[in-house]
Amino acid sequence: MDFTYPAEAEAFRSELRGWLDAHVTDDIRSLGMAARLDPRSAGLERLRDWNRELADADYAAISWPAEYGGRGAGVMDQVVWNEELHRSGAPGPINVLGIPNVAPAIMTYGTETQKKALLPGIRRGDDIWCQGFSEPDAGSDLASLRTSATRDGDDWVITGQKIWTTLAHVANWCELLVRTDPAAPKHRGITCILVDLDRPGVEIRPLVTITGEHEFNEVFFDEVRVPFDQTLGPVNEGWRVAMTTLAHERGGVAKLHLGLRAKVGRLLDEARRTPLGDGRMASEDPALRARLARAYLQAELLKLISDRAISGELHGRPLGPEGSIAKLVWSETEQYVAEVAGDVLGPDANTGEWGRDRVMARSHTIAGGTTQVNKNILATRILGLPRA
Ligand SMILES: Cc1cc2nc3c(=O)[nH]c(=O)nc-3n(C[C@H](O)[C@H](O)[C@H](O)COP(=O)(O)OP(=O)(O)OC[C@H]3O[C@@H](n4cnc5c(N)ncnc54)[C@H](O)[C@@H]3O)c2cc1C
Repeated sequence: MDFTYPAEAEAFRSELRGWLDAHVTDDIRSLGMAARLDPRSAGLERLRDWNRELADADYAAISWPAEYGGRGAGVMDQVVWNEELHRSGAPGPINVLGIPNVAPAIMTYGTETQKKALLPGIRRGDDIWCQGFSEPDAGSDLASLRTSATRDGDDWVITGQKIWTTLAHVANWCELLVRTDPAAPKHRGITCILVDLDRPGVEIRPLVTITGEHEFNEVFFDEVRVPFDQTLGPVNEGWRVAMTTLAHERGGVAKLHLGLRAKVGRLLDEARRTPLGDGRMASEDPALRARLARAYLQAELLKLISDRAISGELHGRPLGPEGSIAKLVWSETEQYVAEVAGDVLGPDANTGEWGRDRVMARSHTIAGGTTQVNKNILATRILGLPRA
């Protein structure tokens, strides 16, 4: 592992920091998850405006090539962008799935017409995208998906059901995986279609999580007609398109340590000011200190794993199983920190941000690849164990 921030990245940092200092207001900082999830809220429109400000200053999608409105930014500038945005307290672009995951798939597999029509709306936040991959019987085993599309003249006709579709109720576009050749082996016979969600026959039903938030949905398709030219990539080769999308999702791991380490820092502060009732603060109790130290070390370990992934990328090594290691360490440490917050704060850990975190953390070991599936990846790809 070896990298330092080159002078150009530090120059980009001071330019970006100056811009953020001049543009981020408390109002923008206050636009949290609630604004992102409510399609009727003024907050969502405010977030969209903020996204447009970022886009107009060329800060919304810096890793994209210049021809699509990005800066063609290298790894270190992307690291700096994440650090500075986090430091400023401002939300990132509204398209949390569109910019990092869907757009690279469109850039790789899209026609020129699709790129011209769709990429600007993703970058500016005019269009919000979701990913319709999982189904009730196809999650970890995604290739078992059954939502079908059949060709009828110039249209696809789509019927089936997706589930856990994050942001579908806010989105107007969906990157959808469908089965187009039921006779083919299951990883073949899948096609990716770009679906505008206001088409007749699309029904979006909310799924409210244990946090009380409406974050994801079930999406039903009842003979939905979509023009054939909205196919992304070759027919029956949607698995490759999906893997491109998910590879970029997993590539986002390098920034996970930012939020986690800040949270551990807040928990240490809480421990220093929370009395135990026997004259000591929580931070003075030996058992609690050991648990806090473990949380701290795991968060620092995540930073090292991220640094290793960045270093690899700088040396031309594509992101490999580090993505799975980082996802495992991040999700399990998030859950551990939530537990330790309970030890430190007692019943107070069940309310406010800590309370939300405590239940939200349960989903981290499922979303974007479960713990068991990531362990399987490490077992086969790092330890060289047999699949069975
Ligand atoms: C917060 C959140 C957001 C999400 N957003 C989206 C989204 O926007 N779009 C989308 O398409 N999906 C989304 N998902 C769905 C997510 O991708 C799936 O939940 C995930 O892939 C697991 O699939 P599943 O829920 O069907 O569980 P299953 O695959 O049925 O797994 C059930 C259990 O079996 C274990 N298991 C499964 N296979 C194996 C195996 N081979 N070896 C060992 N153990 C195994 C799993 O680890 C798990 O414990 C989201 C999920 C969450 C929690």
